[in-house]
Amino acid sequence: MRRNVLASPKRRRPFKGAKYGPGKGRPKRDGQYIDPAKFVNEAVPAPEQERFVPNHKFTDFGFMPELERNVVAKGYEHPTPVQDGAIKPVMEGKDMIGIANTGTGKTAAFLLPIIHRMKTHQQPGTALIIAPTRELAVQIDEEFRGFAKGLGLHSVLCLGGMNVRPQIKGLKRDPQVVIGTPGRLKDLFQQKALRLNRTGVVVLDEADRMLDMGFIKDITFLLDQLPKERQSLCFSATIPPQIGRLLDTMLKDPVTVSVRTRETADQVEQNVIKARSKEEKISVLRDLLRKPEFDKVLIFGRTKWSVQKLADTLKKSGIQAEAIHGNKSQPQRQRALKAFSSGKVNVLVATDVASRGLDIPDVSHVINFDQPNSHDDYIHRIGRTGRAGKGGHALTFVAG
Ligand code: AMP
Repeated sequence: MRRNVLASPKRRRPFKGAKYGPGKGRPKRDGQYIDPAKFVNEAVPAPEQERFVPNHKFTDFGFMPELERNVVAKGYEHPTPVQDGAIKPVMEGKDMIGIANTGTGKTAAFLLPIIHRMKTHQQPGTALIIAPTRELAVQIDEEFRGFAKGLGLHSVLCLGGMNVRPQIKGLKRDPQVVIGTPGRLKDLFQQKALRLNRTGVVVLDEADRMLDMGFIKDITFLLDQLPKERQSLCFSATIPPQIGRLLDTMLKDPVTVSVRTRETADQVEQNVIKARSKEEKISVLRDLLRKPEFDKVLIFGRTKWSVQKLADTLKKSGIQAEAIHGNKSQPQRQRALKAFSSGKVNVLVATDVASRGLDIPDVSHVINFDQPNSHDDYIHRIGRTGRAGKGGHALTFVAG
């Protein structure tokens, strides 16, 4: 009989038989020790959300008519809390710290006022938007194109892992908006393809995610190239000390808008699966993925190599799976993401880095095939399921 044990969700104590403990420690490459009890949680129903009543309607912000039309075309009826709080100060040209997680509508909160100010000549110069991952940058660009439709504004994406030539070509056309990841933006600047001396507004999106990836140096380098007279906006779910220090130098008299919602983790049913070996993990995983309720599953692995290998193994067993990790080209990553988002494949295997900031609707389960490096990463991973107040499920393999 197979020995995998789904620990009782009610049990919050570390379960017996855990092979490691704070004293014993796990091998260093596994990252910091996380008490397996932290992987177990009985989901609580989402609190009866007080219906948010915005102080503003989109028509109150005084957007130019074409922009207002594009907002309506996107299907937005009422501002989300971050939009309600942030749009006005950004329209007034103020610096801002927006404390907001993904999925709160923060992209429109900065894009709409930026577009309006550019088109009405209140915003001199260009906009530079810095994002931690290629996927997030692509999402921002897609939103921008929707809002800027028919307004004669152009954007260029500057992303690592992609052919640099089209990006250089795009920059030669003097786009009003440049969206990119820190390393590639810095490269393009050093190659003299990207000019930053006319930047009128800079946005740092999901800043706390840049810290994770050691991007601080590249960002500081980029900020040093910008004119001192500019508008600066920063969005982040948390403000760890390093980001706090960066913001002190980046922003002038910022307005803070905080709409951070409670971590979704409480609404995610969390449990552990004990398995003794990798073979057992794969075998249990296959059985789970064949269950009808596992209809949109995001699986996390630790390394690029192991993520690819796991996706290949699952495919060989007839399970439609795609992989995203840093060794894939950007078009390959986008294709995999699209196939998963649209339901063409129902399993996506990913590394932490590749999954940052993704907004994929209706993920039924997150499975931690390999444990995350930190509890913070764990919360981030399982936040991919149970979004928008919906219940979700997270399972984590632990040594059995
Ligand atoms: P974001 O947090 O910017 O990634 O946005 C999350 C999702 O919410 C995106 O799919 C947006 O298109 C959508 N969204 C943003 N603002 C609104 C709004 N006011 N009404 C409806 N949907 C929105």
